[in-house]
Amino acid sequence: MNCAESNLFLHAHADGELDVAKSLDLARHLKTCSACAGENKSVRYLSAALRQASLRYDAPDSLRRDVRRMARSLANETRPRLFQSLQLWKYLAFGATAVAFVAIVLRPGIFVQDQMSNEAVASHVRSLMAEHLTDVASSDQHTVKPWFNGKLDFAPSVKDFAAEGFPLIGGRLDYLNGRPVAALVYRRNKHFINVFVWPAGHSGGGKVAIKNRRGYSVINRETIGLHYCLVSDLNAKELAELANLLER
Ligand SMILES: [Zn+2]
Repeated sequence: MNCAESNLFLHAHADGELDVAKSLDLARHLKTCSACAGENKSVRYLSAALRQASLRYDAPDSLRRDVRRMARSLANETRPRLFQSLQLWKYLAFGATAVAFVAIVLRPGIFVQDQMSNEAVASHVRSLMAEHLTDVASSDQHTVKPWFNGKLDFAPSVKDFAAEGFPLIGGRLDYLNGRPVAALVYRRNKHFINVFVWPAGHSGGGKVAIKNRRGYSVINRETIGLHYCLVSDLNAKELAELANLLER
């Protein structure tokens, strides 16, 4: 098995969908190839992260109470008592389904943002391990910005912040959650920073969110039209400085 095949099979492997022969083939390749072994780690981390409690949302108690109250008032219409209690159960069953449904529908923005952040961390790690930080290596914003022309359905704004201590290293085309995004790479002393950019509105709210995932700082910001997701092993305070510069 070569690296291209291994990359194809990693996701199926993580989902337990590979037959024995292919699994053995893949295991042999992973033993000898550190790049693919690293990729395998990120894939496994991602599927584990998706099962984590942080991505599950329970309906708030107030909503549960409202649905119960609604069910009660509907069932309180004049009906024979047995019939009424049967109806009540029906409403309660419907209520439970509605609670679950509303919980899923109300929070997709947060769910997507969490998923994008997880994938952004995996991609950050991958870009460093595979030593594939940039497709276009340049500190010149006038070289990096046009490089994205025709590769994305939006135009990321690209600025060099060398004067502020965050020199631009280059850019890269990346995929998060199945969508092409721009990855801008900055440096702070010895730390690399991936800034993933995609059109705003694809990932829910634009609130400032600083998270720590696997020891990496993640900051999500939304400005007019664009969403920025910054990932680095740099401390959150300095990473926020770059987020502020991007937001200006
Ligand atoms: Zn390989």
